[in-house]
Amino acid sequence: MKPRQGQRPGQRPGQRPGQRRGQRQGQLKKEEAQKARLAEALASWVPKTEFGKKVKSGEIKTIDQILDKGGKILEAEIVDTLLPELEYELITIGQSKGKFGGGKRSIWKQTQKKTKEGNKPKFATVAVIGNRKGYVGIGYGKAKETVPAREKAIRQAKLNIIKVKYGCGSWDCACGEQHSIPMEVSGKCSSVIVKLIPAPKGTGLVVHKELKKILDLAGIKDIYSRTFGKTNTQLNLVKACIESLKQLSKVKTK
Ligand SMILES: [Zn+2]
Repeated sequence: MKPRQGQRPGQRPGQRPGQRRGQRQGQLKKEEAQKARLAEALASWVPKTEFGKKVKSGEIKTIDQILDKGGKILEAEIVDTLLPELEYELITIGQSKGKFGGGKRSIWKQTQKKTKEGNKPKFATVAVIGNRKGYVGIGYGKAKETVPAREKAIRQAKLNIIKVKYGCGSWDCACGEQHSIPMEVSGKCSSVIVKLIPAPKGTGLVVHKELKKILDLAGIKDIYSRTFGKTNTQLNLVKACIESLKQLSKVKTK
């Protein structure tokens, strides 16, 4: 098989570009350090909201206790405490500028403000977080530099976390297991409509590339999707996808 463009030979699918096999060891240490840092940050966390205080004191033990009531999460630490195994992905919402047409998709959306001192660039990005076990969220972050923009987006995504309802709504399958979604749903953002359709077991995620990141982190195994409207606006596309996932928990199933 010919390797896809932008993918080095020997790079496994799902591996981020630039991450070679040899780097895995270092990556692991980095992850451990990150975990330790997170634990430290959580230990010194002083909650400001009511939910935050209850989470810190151990009165609230699961995130469902907040989400089922329709409570609003205002502190990212709540999510860090209750869902410690979150992973994140960045959505390609921008495109690079330059010669030869530019237009290569990038996770950074760059904007510039013209001032007396010169052009001041700003970076925006969209993060998806999820634990592959039914919780997923997206967030938008914008800052003068890329790293703070990413941090902001991840933090925002934690605050926007939702619970995804699994099921097996496919007529061709009807196994009753929790590998897909219980029924067809659709969500809208601006002109973009995303329709999510239950798929039989073994189908995989037959969806748009960026939506795959969301549904994968949500922990859905098999699904079809149809999209309508200006789907090149990826920010609206991912928002519409989250909207349709929200519909799942609104409708009561037997
Ligand atoms: Zn099934």
